[in-house]
Amino acid sequence: MRIMRNMAIKDKLVAIIMLTCIAALLLTGGIFAFSEWGAQRRAIVRSLSTHAAMTGENCKAALTFEDANDAKEMLSMLKEDSSIVFAGVYLESGEVFASYYRDAPDTNLLPSEPQEDGHEFAGGLLTLFRSIVLDEETIGTICLRSDLRPMYAMLKRKSITIIGVVLLGSLVAYVVSSRLQRIISGPILNLAEVAKVVSQEKDYSVRAAKESNDEVGLLIDSFNEMLEEISRRDVALVEANESLETRVKERTVELTAANRELQNSVERANLMAREAQEANKAKSQFLANMSHEIRTPMNGIIGFADVLADEDLAEQHKEYVAIIRDCGRELLVLINDILDFSKIEANKLATEITSCSLAKLLNSVESLMRPKAVEKGLELRVIESPGLPGGISTDPVRLRQCLVNLVGNAVKFTEVGHIYIHVSIHEENGEPHIQFDVEDTGIGIPKDKQGTVFEVFTQADGSHTRKYGGSGLGLAITKRLAEILGGRLTVTSVEGEGSTFSLVLPAGVDACKNGFLDRHNLAEELRTDRDKSVETAFLGRVLVAEDSLTNRTLVELLLKRMGIEVTIAVDGNEAVQKAQNEAFDLIFMDMQMPNMNGYEAAGTLRKAGIATPIVALTANVMKGDDKKCLAAGCDDYISKPLDRARLIEVIGKYLASTTEPVHQESDAAT
Ligand code: ADP
Repeated sequence: MRIMRNMAIKDKLVAIIMLTCIAALLLTGGIFAFSEWGAQRRAIVRSLSTHAAMTGENCKAALTFEDANDAKEMLSMLKEDSSIVFAGVYLESGEVFASYYRDAPDTNLLPSEPQEDGHEFAGGLLTLFRSIVLDEETIGTICLRSDLRPMYAMLKRKSITIIGVVLLGSLVAYVVSSRLQRIISGPILNLAEVAKVVSQEKDYSVRAAKESNDEVGLLIDSFNEMLEEISRRDVALVEANESLETRVKERTVELTAANRELQNSVERANLMAREAQEANKAKSQFLANMSHEIRTPMNGIIGFADVLADEDLAEQHKEYVAIIRDCGRELLVLINDILDFSKIEANKLATEITSCSLAKLLNSVESLMRPKAVEKGLELRVIESPGLPGGISTDPVRLRQCLVNLVGNAVKFTEVGHIYIHVSIHEENGEPHIQFDVEDTGIGIPKDKQGTVFEVFTQADGSHTRKYGGSGLGLAITKRLAEILGGRLTVTSVEGEGSTFSLVLPAGVDACKNGFLDRHNLAEELRTDRDKSVETAFLGRVLVAEDSLTNRTLVELLLKRMGIEVTIAVDGNEAVQKAQNEAFDLIFMDMQMPNMNGYEAAGTLRKAGIATPIVALTANVMKGDDKKCLAAGCDDYISKPLDRARLIEVIGKYLASTTEPVHQESDAAT
């Protein structure tokens, strides 16, 4: 069966028919041959039985009269049947009475003794025994032996005929099946051919021819329907493809347009970003310039007001000078607020975290704010919780600024009662935090305004500007500063009862180890410091490089009052020249000067090997200005407007102090 698996369908059909026919013929032939063989055997037994009966009958008389010759004669009559090769008659005693041999006598053919009635096929012979009975008494036995070869010869002939019939039948079956197989294989082969065309040439328009309504016909119908369906789908697919292509084209056009638009937008955005960057740069530059431009005259106003206040003036004039000085300071606070806010916005606010004395800080805030509180009849008190450290680690300038803003507001918005500054320390996430609660009994802030007071230019009530003044920047700056320092600013308030602003900042672990707060001793210390500073005088020659006449005159005046010998240079060039030609103990160098600015001048001097200490005077307060000065070769810097205490502190670093009285005649500006 396995052999047939790969045969062509027509060969398969022929083979199946042939095998079926041959099997049927062989079976028929076999059955026929077998039945013929049986029939022949039965016929020969019958014939021999008849002969035995007849001859036995004939021999009865011979046996009765014991006439052996008569018996022999009877037996010899059997020669008529050529197949009988032996015949014998036995007496009842078993002795051979008479015998007959067709050919020469052969003892092999003679059975030694008679047998029971019956027959046996053996040794190519049929042997048959029959009793001879007379008056119901057995008087002898007859034996006949027939040669089976003629029967076998006939059977052989018949078998050959049967084989011939089988072969002929197979041949006829082959011829007929070869012709008839086309009825089945023809349409299938045709179908296979069409399927091949479809699969190889992808031609779905061909159809298989249907020749009958049988299963093959149904198969062809289904195949053709399938092709029909494929063709329909092909058409639909082509149509869908075409519409898809059209859609893709449309979308591509739209996308290209959108892309172009996007590119334009990106270019516009880039341009705007560049412009914004430029604008930001310009803003920063403007801030730097404004800072310089505003601070320079402020330096003159406040500085000379300070100088004038020390003069021996009439009471009235002293008041006027005090007013000029206070106005100048207020203006400076406002300018500082605006500059600070701009710096925070531009992310250019510099902070400097150092260890600072908590006592100094609280004293300085308290002493600054107390006169204003007293003026309004308010009680101002610092309430210290136990365990406060002597020092904390933060930016003292910015912290002071925050506290001054908060206490300033408390004084401003309180008419009667008190302002308490509660100071306490606690831990947050394992880190010590210092908390300042500025509590007042003032007008309070309505609940719905409490969230917005920290926004810039916001006031809880629009009428506050008129009544209390203010820019609306203070709290915004304070809150941002608190955040820059790693802390927070919050408020709780009840309208009409008062407010508490809470400023919480990291205290710095190391700073907390600096012992405990003791403000009493510090007050003494500060007083002695202040007394000392008033009397301070120094020895030495100082070169002041400053282009602004006002500032030049002020610095010169202040330095001369300290007993210092002053030489002036009006720009960087002159400063370099003078510093190279003369020996100085200290150089004050304005950084913004015509011809050659302070940075270049400091750099040139350092390159020329001049090691005289240089202190930069800078009105720029932007982040990084200090580092720029130090990088240019300066040793220190003082920002304008000049703070007299800071001036003394810096000079003290580089010049030797003296207790010699200073001659007031040297006040005259040169
Ligand atoms: P301003 O310069 O106007 O004081 P601030 O930013 O410091 O600006 O304050 C914003 C607003 O918050 C104030 O105008 C006021 O309405 C409210 N405010 C601030 N502090 C207090 C306070 N201690 N009591 C009542 N209102 C306050």
